[in-house]
Amino acid sequence: MKNLKAKQSIRPNFWKNIDMTEMTKPEWEALCDGCGKCCLLKLEDEDTNEVKFTNIACRLFDDNTCKCQNYALRKQMVSGCVVLTPENIERIAHWMPNTCGYRRVFEGQSLMKWHPLITGNPDSAHITNNSFQNRTIPEYDVEEDDFENYIIEDLA
Ligand code: SF4
Ligand code: SF4
Repeated sequence: MKNLKAKQSIRPNFWKNIDMTEMTKPEWEALCDGCGKCCLLKLEDEDTNEVKFTNIACRLFDDNTCKCQNYALRKQMVSGCVVLTPENIERIAHWMPNTCGYRRVFEGQSLMKWHPLITGNPDSAHITNNSFQNRTIPEYDVEEDDFENYIIEDLA
């Protein structure tokens, strides 16, 4: 029983010294800074494969809380939703924003200074204006032909 409890805990500085495949579920979830950037629609240039983010948010995104409205069932409700795991992070990391906690740890970089694991404040991405809280347009309010008008040039 004691071991089970230990496996579910968050160890100090785990992101610096624990391999991603060895992280507990709470540790893995804690790598997310809550920025909401991965819930923004992306456009890929057919010729260059360059990916650009827009400020149009996925239909399940709640702009006020900056969270998914159904995190547990996100993949069932939005087939294109990418569920990061220690197994697929290598393939997906380059699609994530440079500030993303998962991408940064995978690439051996330090977390952003405003990351909740650094500040101890779960809202620090919002307080420091590093999240998309109250900054998105719902997917269903924009015609697909107009998506490129919402491209963000500097995501970070
Ligand atoms: S981009 Fe990364 S850190 Fe930001 S919300 Fe998505 S998974 Fe979390
Ligand atoms: S389903 Fe939820 S987690 Fe997935 S992209 Fe949409 S809002 Fe984000």
